[in-house]
Amino acid sequence: MVRRSSTETFERIDHIKKEITLVQADLLDQLSIVRIMAEHSPDEVYNLAAQSFVPASWAQPVLTGEFDAIGVTKMLEAIRLVDKDIKFYQASSSEMFGKVREVPQTENTPFYPRSPYGVAKVYGHWITVNYRESFDIHASSGILFNHESPRRGLEFVTRKITDGVARIKLGMAKQLALGNLDSKRDWGFAGDYVKAMWLMLQQDKPGDYVICAGKTHSVEEFVSYAFNHVGLNYKDYVVTDPRFVRPAEVDLLIGDPSLAKKELGWEPSVSFEELVAMMVDADLKGLTDAK
Ligand code: GDP
Repeated sequence: MVRRSSTETFERIDHIKKEITLVQADLLDQLSIVRIMAEHSPDEVYNLAAQSFVPASWAQPVLTGEFDAIGVTKMLEAIRLVDKDIKFYQASSSEMFGKVREVPQTENTPFYPRSPYGVAKVYGHWITVNYRESFDIHASSGILFNHESPRRGLEFVTRKITDGVARIKLGMAKQLALGNLDSKRDWGFAGDYVKAMWLMLQQDKPGDYVICAGKTHSVEEFVSYAFNHVGLNYKDYVVTDPRFVRPAEVDLLIGDPSLAKKELGWEPSVSFEELVAMMVDADLKGLTDAK
């Protein structure tokens, strides 16, 4: 499902575009969602649609709520009206833990979101649980920690770093301006996490699962690995810029993936070091090919 717009932005799905059918609908338009569910009779629906950039959620908190909170209800309502056997996946987020109540975070850790994005995602999570319990819908919520890949948008720190490292290595940039280097995240490879989403919908029973690597690294470590990978020292290139520092930060986000391992048989296959190397190599290749 895609939103109509005058300019197409499908480069992240170019490699599979021939194998899929794109249909138009909009999370802001309830009837459009009902209509595509009725026309296409899906077996499974994965709701990955969101305003997903945390800093933008302070600039557009109401719109973030429309998409990330009420949008989930619209999806679930469409399922309830059209066919209650459609299985549903909701993309919940570790941002829901925010000012964390315990370390590591599990499926039972109370939420304490620290951004309008996190607040909206908490609503999305609970409405998914509520439709599962109220209407017996196979609705699952995946509480995914940060998942990255070469397709990550350039505004996110991992891709910003790997793109910056590649540009510096190729002589196209001289420095890299970042915000808080002490922030820590539990980062994993997006491809592994998508497998977990799919596994949730293959189970007899729906549920809520924390999906993460279970290891935390600082932004500084990410930067250091990325520069090392191309034989450079980050201290020669990284500067801090207050524009990238946030009004409120989440605390130590680190998840416990044991339930997913036990019930879904899921484990990540790409390590932190492999992920950093994969992203730097992809940016080096992309920029070199474009030259
Ligand atoms: P998020 O966890 O979904 O918000 O993912 P991001 O990749 O946007 O941010 C991860 C962490 O990196 C946050 O704690 C940011 O404060 C920190 N960070 C430090 N410098 C930067 C920067 O220049 N850009 C971004 N996006 N994040 C930065």
